[in-house]
Formats: sequence, C-alpha cells, structure tokens
Amino acid sequence: MKRIYLDYAATTPTDPEAAKAMLPYLTETFGNPSSEHSFGLEAREAIEEARSKVAAFIGAHNDEIVFTGGGTEADNLALKGIALNNKSRGNHIITTSIEHPAVIETSKYLEKLGFKVTYLPVDSQGLVDPDDLKKAITTKTILVSIMHANNEVGTIEPIADIGRITKEAGIYFHTDAVQTVGHIPVDVNMLGVDLLSISAHKLYGPKGIGALYVRKGTEITPLLHGGGQEKKRRSGTENTASIVGFARAIEITAQEMPAEVTRQTSLRNRLTAAIQEQIDSVKLNGHPLIRLPNNINISIDYIEGESVMLNLDLEGISVSTGSACSSADHGPSHVMLAMGLPREQAYSSLRITLGKWTTSEETDYALDVLKRIVSKLRAMSPLFAKGKNTG
Ligand code: PLP
Repeated sequence: MKRIYLDYAATTPTDPEAAKAMLPYLTETFGNPSSEHSFGLEAREAIEEARSKVAAFIGAHNDEIVFTGGGTEADNLALKGIALNNKSRGNHIITTSIEHPAVIETSKYLEKLGFKVTYLPVDSQGLVDPDDLKKAITTKTILVSIMHANNEVGTIEPIADIGRITKEAGIYFHTDAVQTVGHIPVDVNMLGVDLLSISAHKLYGPKGIGALYVRKGTEITPLLHGGGQEKKRRSGTENTASIVGFARAIEITAQEMPAEVTRQTSLRNRLTAAIQEQIDSVKLNGHPLIRLPNNINISIDYIEGESVMLNLDLEGISVSTGSACSSADHGPSHVMLAMGLPREQAYSSLRITLGKWTTSEETDYALDVLKRIVSKLRAMSPLFAKGKNTG
C-alpha cells in the first residue's frame, strides 16, 4: 500500500544529511564536552559550531542559545525560568488561550505556585488582538508568552506588534516559535522577543533536541541543577550528536526554505481549493492568509474528523484531527473552542500539513481518497441526512 505522510506539523522525518552528520558523534567523537582532553574538546567544538549555526538562523548571538531537550523543555524553561527569577518584581503572566500544552500546562502549574495568569482570547480566525494585551498589562506583569504560529490552525500571530508593546512596558516577552522556525523567516530582533522556543524535529532534525533563545541580559532560573552546563542555564551532559544533527538540519533548511515556502504555499492553496470545490460543506479553520505555508485545517460538516483520520490511515494516508483529543474527556480542541467555533465544527476538523517531500501526486491522490471517504461516512451520517433535508 502507498503510504503518504501529511502530518508534518506533528513531526518531520530527520533529513538523511542531518542523520549522517550525527553518526560520528555517537561512535568516534564521543567525548564528554566538559572533558579537557582532546576527545572532550572535539565534542565541545562541534557543539559551539552548532550553536553558531542555530544562532545565525534566527539573528541571535551564540551565547543567547541554550540547547534543551526539545520545544516542551524550552517553553518550560522560558516560563518557569522568568517567573521564578522575577517573583519579587511581580506575579502576573499573560499568555493566550490557544497555546500549546507546553505553555498552557506550565502556566497552570505556575498558578498553583501563586502566579496569576491572564489567558487572552483570540478572534474566530485565531488572531490575538494586541489591544487586548495592552489592556491586560498591570504593574505586576512580568512576562508575556504568545506563540508565533498556532500548531493546529496555522494562524500566525502579530508578534512584532506585541514585541513593541512589551518593550515599551519593560516586560519580558517569550514566543513559542516551534511551528515557525524553519517554515517562515524568524528573526529575534525583528520580532522583538526576549525568549524564543525552537524544536529540531519540526524542521527535519532529530527528536528530543531544541533550543531556547535567551536575549543577552535576561536572567532565568534553571529547571535543572547540576554540572552547570549551558552557562548554568541547563545542566546535564550535552547531547552532542543531536545538537550537531539539529544544526545540520537548520543549515539545510536555511538553503531550502525560500523556495519551499513558495512551493508549499502553492501546493497547499491548490489542495485547499480542490477540497472546497469538490467536497460540499467544508469550512477552512484559521486565518485564510496569515497562516503557515504548509497548513490546511478544515471542518468537514456532518462527520467527525476522528473518523476521517482513521479511515485515511487505513488507506495509508496520515493526517491529524484538528480536534486532537488531548484530555481524558475527549473534548474538542481548546484552540477551536477559544476561536468560538461551534463544538460540531471543532469535532469535524482535520489538519493536513505538508512538508518538503510532499509532491503534487501525493496531494492529488490524498484528495481522491478523501472524497471517497467523506462520501462513505456521510452516507452513514444521520446528521448529514438531516442537514440535507433542512437545507
Ligand atoms: N510548541 C508547539 C507550538 C508545538 O507544536 C510543539 C510540538 O508539537 C511543542 C511546543 C513541543 O515541542 P517538542 O515536541 O519538541 O517537545
């Protein structure tokens, strides 16, 4: 059976070049980067070279990059690191209601520790209004954390506008850029952020490695205490091979991204248009234009996204439900609900995300299979029969 992967927002395959670059650091250059002998120094050199590649890609200085065990850890380090370090200045944090659980759950944890958190609303297309942020700021506000682009609906937030507001107010600003670095241009100075999270496995690097950008002069309390690696910001022997693979993936991405943004946008637009023309009653979720180049999030009325996803999987096509059941009660996605979408629209959503290895043959084939599955599921759907009768 043909297998087609259309879930690049969940993770990407590691680029074979990045995987190749990692291998010597597992077997030959295996020294502990903190050791002062030649084995250690070689590993240290590789890490510092990797750091400069990651830094250059986002317009940062080398010592502003802290390697972490991925995006979740980077988000945790940013939020807890700033909150705990600035307790004496204030206890108020502002974030949004559409963040990834790595930010939402960390915020809830900080609430338990006594911090107050404001969750800003978004509009029906998933956009935060910078005026809402202005109104939410108090004298106690120490941190604003707003994601660069949403992982479910792909909406890109007005981070540079928000950065101007936080700078004027003298408040630390973190953005979770896990879905944007490697997919659209990201520059920490243009965005005006103090902290920014990256994850390697979203940009063709290995899993379990990422970075937190921390602007010079920004102090954070570490999550991990120990040997004081990463300038005391993240203790633990560095994952040399993964750091090298991450940097190699970034290097490749830097070359490929300009052409890929154009190619994936046009492939995405073509597939979105074809779905809307060839399948009745489909709604596009998220902003129609201000969205990630590779993201399609649709609600197919009268059927559940979960059923469509599972049926596509049986035919070898991997996509994700827009309303990924993230809680035990199998509720619809918190992002869709925050956008004010009806529960049915949230339940019927499907996320299709393209990547650098997605071809037009694959999207054409996926469209044909999707049409067939939708017809089959709608034929069985009492909601569809009712909807048709009532127009
Ligand atoms: N933030 C966003 C927006 C994400 O999409 C993800 C991954 O899905 C994460 C954070 C977590 O990153 P990681 O899987 O590297 O822990």
